[in-house]
Amino acid sequence: MPSHTPEPFRYEGGSVDPGETEHFRFEVSEAYVSDPIRVPITVINGEEGGSTAFLTVAVHGNELNGIDVLRRVVDDLDHDDLAGTLVCVHVVNVPGSNVQERAVPAEDDLNRSFPGSEDGTTSERIARQVYANFIEPCDFGIDFHTSTGGRTNVIHARGDLDDPEASRLAHAFGTNLIVDGAGPPNSLRRAATEAGTPTIVVEMGEANRFQDEVIEDGVRGVQNVLAEFELRPADAVEWPGWRSIVDPDKREWLRADAGGIVDMDVSNADPVREGEFLCTIRNPFDRELTDVEAPFAGILFSRLENPVVYPGSPLCHIAAVDDSTLRIVETTRGAR
Ligand SMILES: [Zn+2]
Repeated sequence: MPSHTPEPFRYEGGSVDPGETEHFRFEVSEAYVSDPIRVPITVINGEEGGSTAFLTVAVHGNELNGIDVLRRVVDDLDHDDLAGTLVCVHVVNVPGSNVQERAVPAEDDLNRSFPGSEDGTTSERIARQVYANFIEPCDFGIDFHTSTGGRTNVIHARGDLDDPEASRLAHAFGTNLIVDGAGPPNSLRRAATEAGTPTIVVEMGEANRFQDEVIEDGVRGVQNVLAEFELRPADAVEWPGWRSIVDPDKREWLRADAGGIVDMDVSNADPVREGEFLCTIRNPFDRELTDVEAPFAGILFSRLENPVVYPGSPLCHIAAVDDSTLRIVETTRGAR
């Protein structure tokens, strides 16, 4: 249970008292030239006691939209108006971010390295520092991601809906689509949820850029979660209009059966019917066209942005939804 007595937020080497906001850098590793590698962090500790929540961004170093979500959340939030503590890790994977890559350079995926280890790989040691100081002490959290390079996602939450608090988080964030599942072994969200800090992932947009339309939805989602968990006044929770839980067995990446250049005829968040035309793969002479159709009805959930494909390259990702949801989506603008 979260404490309702205001308490300092403590981490190795420091603390932030109630009624204070601190921006600081926390050392997680060392570069080749022995300089410290430090992670930028903001802790906003409210005047009043309440839950402690974390927001993490760029565990994958080139997944940037969440950076702007946190910047706007931190700009907007005063400790005088907060009941509880918000811990913001603005960039987790600083080495990857420096070279605009997903992974820590020459290392394993940082998001398969949690909860980390003091005597493990470089990624596991970085994970351990972040986890022990800024995730484990929290009651719940949100880890922001985007699609990998060359693709883009509809904004959606992912969480283990069998965990009541993770489910509450995923629903409160307020996206139309929620993907149910525990997540990959040793991912931040799975490690944290299994250890008692329920955590969801929010996937939003494309790597290597800022996209205003999903960033605004991300900020609204954080505000919804802060309201639901009573860090902020509760009248701010916003219902997304419609919602569908995506069954992991009922979503599918459609893959190219030919190499070539893709002309995509559908956009993310579009509702599609079974048999609907989605895209054409062209060869350089504009002949031997290969048309791709939807194998089942659903919402276009993710699609490629880089138009060149090999046979087997992913084209677009469809999540099945029930017929009544599909009709609602068809009469509105799509998924948000
Ligand atoms: Zn990611």
